[in-house]
Amino acid sequence: MSKFTAIVLAAGSGSRMHSDVKKQYMELEGYPLIYYALKSFSESPVDDIILVTGLEDIEYCRNEIVMRYGFVKVTTIVAGGKERYDSVYNGLNAAIDADYVLIHDGARPFVTDAMIRSSMDAVVKYDAVTVAVPTKDTIKVVDDDGFGVETLDRSVLWNVQTPQSFNRNMLLGAYKDMRTLNDTKITDDTVIIERYANKSVKIIEGDYRNIKVTTPEDINLAKEFLRI
Ligand code: C5P
Repeated sequence: MSKFTAIVLAAGSGSRMHSDVKKQYMELEGYPLIYYALKSFSESPVDDIILVTGLEDIEYCRNEIVMRYGFVKVTTIVAGGKERYDSVYNGLNAAIDADYVLIHDGARPFVTDAMIRSSMDAVVKYDAVTVAVPTKDTIKVVDDDGFGVETLDRSVLWNVQTPQSFNRNMLLGAYKDMRTLNDTKITDDTVIIERYANKSVKIIEGDYRNIKVTTPEDINLAKEFLRI
């Protein structure tokens, strides 16, 4: 039997929220934002969950989130790093006996059981998978003077979300190469796989509601989604 570990990321500073409370702990309909993603993974078939948070927030997460809400699948809480990819790397190293990892932004509260299950099925087949949705907007390449120089073909463009799921050893190997080369132009783990594992990532259908709560207006949208 393969082992599936979810790595839930909550080590960001959330500076775009312009709030005193870090966004992952902001209250949304009575619960901290991070609660929702942890609840979905707890109720899913994943074997365990690693929570990655700021070093200074580990105790708070252990007492006020994991213990308080009884998230028994959260077996490990580790400190993240400066960049998102540093936080993923720390989580990946803690997932010692996992065959597959599902990496998820803790700031995406609307991950569903269906998304998690289809990610688990697909990663066994393809080794590298992400959920994504077809782009709704027209996307332009803009030059330094602020002029559009090219309009991309929207029919082939997708907005990438999380969970992103990988064969753990494959992703760890790609990370090691990336770190050796000091590559910092990394926006997510699919880029690392494309660049260092020389592999295409399978795209599976996400959901337009699976937003990343980043700026203050996202909070209102998230509250709306929680009410309906
Ligand atoms: O900053 P961004 O919105 O891209 O962050 C996406 C997710 O990655 C968030 O859940 C955030 O907490 C996490 N993150 C992290 N460590 C960092 C930066 C971001 O765990 N250094």
